[in-house]
Amino acid sequence: MTRFRAFVDRHLDEVLADLAAFVELESPTTDKAAVDRAGRYLATRLREAAGAEIVWHPQAAWGDHLEARVGSGPRRILLLGHVDTVWPVGTLERIPCRIDGDRMTGPGCFDMKYGDIQAVWALRAVVESGLAADKTFVYFGNTEEEVGSPTSRPIIERLARESECVLVLEPSVGEEGAIKLWRKGVGMYRLTVRGVASHAGADPEKGRSAILELAHQIVDLHAIADPERGTTVNVGIVRGGTRPNVVAAEAVAEIDLRVRTADEARRADTRIRTRPTFVAGTTVHVDGGLNRPPMEETPASRRLYELAKRLAANEGVDLPAGGTGGGSDGNFTAALGVPTLDGLGAVGDGGHAEHEHIRLSAVAPRLAWFTRLLVEL
Ligand SMILES: [Zn+2]
Repeated sequence: MTRFRAFVDRHLDEVLADLAAFVELESPTTDKAAVDRAGRYLATRLREAAGAEIVWHPQAAWGDHLEARVGSGPRRILLLGHVDTVWPVGTLERIPCRIDGDRMTGPGCFDMKYGDIQAVWALRAVVESGLAADKTFVYFGNTEEEVGSPTSRPIIERLARESECVLVLEPSVGEEGAIKLWRKGVGMYRLTVRGVASHAGADPEKGRSAILELAHQIVDLHAIADPERGTTVNVGIVRGGTRPNVVAAEAVAEIDLRVRTADEARRADTRIRTRPTFVAGTTVHVDGGLNRPPMEETPASRRLYELAKRLAANEGVDLPAGGTGGGSDGNFTAALGVPTLDGLGAVGDGGHAEHEHIRLSAVAPRLAWFTRLLVEL
């Protein structure tokens, strides 16, 4: 058994108790008081466990972002987490934090409170080992990741520029706990059509139907997709009209775009924004844009993955590489050209879904190799 695995095995009950306590501090993005309570807990644990120096980034509308520094070496490594979840306060009554066989359930346990707690314990193990004196680890706990990181993005980008690599503790993908070497970029748009209202029976020729125009728009928008290149377009919400006997004066669609490459991001974004019109007398307006750029695999991120894979093998873990259509803060750091590995956190399933859980048998080996990665990077 390796020294890191021995450390984890000695403390496994404490790690799980720590995780349960953190999950039970429910922290939906939109509830500042609740997110702040969870953030304070995490800060206290980082201080107690790893002697972290805490810097708060106070926010008026969102929870205060947490920056924790461990060590004082010249090489800087950024660990990215988030404290918020998509689950409203009270979800615990329906989905309690509970151990059932090889599973632990609870709102946000997989996405991504386990990852945050993994950072706490790995940093403690690193500090106790005395083996990483050449590095400073900066953990950043975002409080509004689930709504697209409106206020944390510039902080994350600054911290990433100061770091030689970024390790994102978001959940892994698939049964084997694969690393995310790529993530799709995400675009969010709202398309508004204005037409001319008229009586559908008495004056149909005077009307210009915004709904008919929107129907053409939806077909045209979906045609921008190129699944082979990983580009998808989804019109997920439509609204419009007032009554069946009125030609609709207004209609609105909300659009989700996903892209794997920067080239596709440019192509699809341009086409979504430059709309043709199909029904004479209507006008079309598009708001929004790319919220997260795609995280593309690079030679440097591949090398980082190969190192992680080798170290994981030493801890008895087979570590595949994968990717996902979902975005994270890793998209921002990768787009700056800073080598980024994502999906280093929980093994399990059900992010943002009722069956959210982590796999307990994966905790000890994963925590051990992640610690080793921090030491040997
Ligand atoms: Zn997440």
